[in-house]
Amino acid sequence: MTIYQNLIGGEWIGSDATENINPSDTNEVVGLYADGSAEDTKNAIAAAKAAFPAWSRSGIWERHVILKKAGDEIMARKDELGALLAREEGKTLPEAIGETIRASQIFEFFAGEALRLAGEVIPSVRPNIGVEITRDPLGVIGIITPWNFPIAIPAWKIAPALCYGNTVVFKPAELVPACSWAIVDILHRAGLPKGVLNLVMGKGSVVGQAMLDSPDVSGITFTGSTGTGRRVAAASLEHNRKFQLEMGGKNPMVVLDDADLDVAVEAAANSGFFSTGQRCTASSRLIVTEGIHDKFVAALTAKLETLVVDNALKAGTHIGPVVDEKQLKTDTDYIEIGKQEGAKLAFGGELISRETPGFYLQPTLFTEATNEMRISREEIFGPVVSLIRVKDYEEALATANDTPFGLSSGIATTSLKHATHFKRNAEAGMVMVNLPTAGVDFHVPFGGRKGSSYGPREQGKYAAEFYTIVKTSYTLA
Ligand code: NDP
Repeated sequence: MTIYQNLIGGEWIGSDATENINPSDTNEVVGLYADGSAEDTKNAIAAAKAAFPAWSRSGIWERHVILKKAGDEIMARKDELGALLAREEGKTLPEAIGETIRASQIFEFFAGEALRLAGEVIPSVRPNIGVEITRDPLGVIGIITPWNFPIAIPAWKIAPALCYGNTVVFKPAELVPACSWAIVDILHRAGLPKGVLNLVMGKGSVVGQAMLDSPDVSGITFTGSTGTGRRVAAASLEHNRKFQLEMGGKNPMVVLDDADLDVAVEAAANSGFFSTGQRCTASSRLIVTEGIHDKFVAALTAKLETLVVDNALKAGTHIGPVVDEKQLKTDTDYIEIGKQEGAKLAFGGELISRETPGFYLQPTLFTEATNEMRISREEIFGPVVSLIRVKDYEEALATANDTPFGLSSGIATTSLKHATHFKRNAEAGMVMVNLPTAGVDFHVPFGGRKGSSYGPREQGKYAAEFYTIVKTSYTLA
């Protein structure tokens, strides 16, 4: 079998490899992917450092052309790359193709941004002096990504890093190297100079750690768990390095008595269970007022009955497998915890067998949960949702905000007054009205607050805040 190698200084390198296993069919090896070392990571950082002076001064047209070419190729290959994504991560084929399209759109967006780089010229408070405010690239950016969006998250970090003139060392999650390899290959062939983008696949404790320990990495953008995020923060402070963290969530969706029942059920089913609940923006807490509670539970469980859990590539599958055995154990452990805590298992909770051996779990709904239970406070990152009954809007809002996290927060209501109040008072980076808490646009800021995020927002124009550093220049006329 071919070994998909690391890209270091423009050369494909590496002979040690790890198997990438399909969670829908554990007999299938998606491919063999290089298992990089700390030495490989140091070499990649050195290559990125050497490439930085020329790339940071490269013309904006060159950057535009390369990013656009990459976006176009990803779009042209969306079905093939989507299938690869579904095979390595387990989201359904339509979800995987949708994510691939989004990756392409992100490259197109930043191809455009490269042509719109600008600064400000303003008068000084002192006569005969001009002031210019410009943005410089940071230098070498370390990119560390999680397994749940194997093509979109790498895209939304690599595209702005390159657009603003930085060079990159990219470490994808070990579980999902295939899409990362594919987009690095596409960018390499699109004409990136040697060393501008380096790929080091391998273990977080080896490759990721070597990035954290290097004084030559000027910025680290990280998406993943809260625990690893804290390590990134501590190591970055040590090196006085800029860092950006996107971490977990325990996103609430409030359903009020006046909600349109169909809209509320669709939003809850989508954001609670699609993508196997493995989205940082998933609604893992449904907070439902008394008047609609019983109707909503009945309608949601009826909807869950109709959802098909099966092989991600199979037509008609709504929910693919859990990503791996470790995550499956986390999910089933939390299902036991929920039962012991006294929540009522209203739907699911069982492992399922399918034609192909995989990590299949029923969508699982706990009712009669309280916001104090561990299943309502800790991120599970699977298709397991707590439903909490509350008296009224005021209690719903207080419950929604009573969490260590603050990524996305949703409300289903037909009341303008409550929707407006919720948008103002939800303690979250993103607020959704009559929409799933998951599912965002690619051209606007993404991120959270409290324990979910740290540092500037990602995506859209706001990405410049992280990937550049502001310079103020004074000139005597
Ligand atoms: P992890 O924190 O385990 O891993 C994230 C990345 O960090 C992986 O590439 C991992 O490598 C790497 N890593 C692990 N240890 C180290 C280390 N010591 N030094 C440097 N890097 C390291 O998270 P998961 O991959 O399990 O992702 C799931 C989590 O991500 C969930 O908590 C979820 O909420 C969060 N997430 C947040 C999003 C957001 O935007 N807020 C979006 C998507 C996910 P490896 O896996 O190879 O060991």
